[in-house]
Amino acid sequence: MGAQILLVEDEPGIQELLKLNLGQAGHAVTVAGDAERALQLLQNANPDVILLDWMLPGLSGIALCQRLRQDSRYKQTPIIMLTAKGEERDKVAGLETGADDYITKPFSPKELVARIKAVLRRRAPQMTEDPVEAGGLKLDPVSHRVTGNTQPLDLGPTEFRLLHFFMTHPERVFSRSQLLDQVWGDDVFVEERTVDVHIRRLRLALSPTGHENLVQTVRGSGYRFSPVA
Ligand code: CA
Repeated sequence: MGAQILLVEDEPGIQELLKLNLGQAGHAVTVAGDAERALQLLQNANPDVILLDWMLPGLSGIALCQRLRQDSRYKQTPIIMLTAKGEERDKVAGLETGADDYITKPFSPKELVARIKAVLRRRAPQMTEDPVEAGGLKLDPVSHRVTGNTQPLDLGPTEFRLLHFFMTHPERVFSRSQLLDQVWGDDVFVEERTVDVHIRRLRLALSPTGHENLVQTVRGSGYRFSPVA
């Protein structure tokens, strides 16, 4: 699955190179030439990954990173810093301010694509295309297939995303609003009880193989996926 990527970079050459290569890797790239523009764009978009150049005109990449980490909306967003060669001390500072990773210029776009995949796997495993398996359930994001004990199960698109998120975050309780943020996204306005509707549908879809009990209601808190149910 392609990620929405915000690239904050002032060098046109790197902007073009990354737009092209990340686009070929299936990602959608939005470019901001400086931190101010990035903050403007972030008011209406919530990217899956932010690539942040260290040296920017005006507010530096590191200052922007710090600011984003103080904002509850971007606390969890993977940030990869792009640094120039020889800024070893800066790298440490970068990681201390909350960046997930850094990559030194000049870098190969292939390496950057691999780093993006790695941070997504860590921060947002439901964004990757790795098949997941738990408690006899198997979900393949590439073929969009779900099986229970090798028997095919029929899931709607929302139920599929919901199950993918649950399977990549087992044994954790999520409130309805957390599930809305993670599975539906910030941009959509949906009522919290919509979550209950889709949980019911998901359980129904998993019932032919007896896997509906893996999706548990945690009274007063929300829902949890537990393969050891
Ligand atoms: Ca720069």
